[in-house]
Amino acid sequence: MKETELKVRVFGDPILRKKAKLVRKITDEHRKALSVMAQLMYRDAGIGLASLQAGFTDAMIVVDLGNCLYKVINPRIVECKGRQCLSEGCLSLPGINVKVKRAKKIRLKGLDECGKPVNIAAEDLLACVFQHEIDHLKGKMIIDYASFLDKLKIKDKLAGLKQTRHKPDKDAKTIAGSTGL
Ligand SMILES: [Zn+2]
Repeated sequence: MKETELKVRVFGDPILRKKAKLVRKITDEHRKALSVMAQLMYRDAGIGLASLQAGFTDAMIVVDLGNCLYKVINPRIVECKGRQCLSEGCLSLPGINVKVKRAKKIRLKGLDECGKPVNIAAEDLLACVFQHEIDHLKGKMIIDYASFLDKLKIKDKLAGLKQTRHKPDKDAKTIAGSTGL
């Protein structure tokens, strides 16, 4: 896997609408994929990235607001409190921002890259980013939250993104030991 071949998948790439697979057994391949995802996130100056955006089909996310890198496998939200509405961007939707209503505080469970359970309490922007990335694992993107008016505003930009040529989906990497989520 050459780093130069890696890029964040952009809207129109069918992998972004897939559902990620639950990881049953964590291997070195997952650890390698997580470090590739972190590299891509930093390279594109993002604060979070989901596996599907990097072409991996197993359920993994990376998040870093600048002070801590979270790598979470099979992340799931187990508690939600309050409401917030932030204008969100997405590395897979360059140039597009959508206001999204989400929980203000969440509790997230999953596994770290060694298979140890993690239990993370997050609020404000961090809670928002975790919810955004977990949406990606379900094939959901911020444009799905857009109001009718927002949809009209971003229609042309989306059409432009879709026109960029995408690699065929056979590139999607499945890591052994996974099953459907
Ligand atoms: Zn995104």
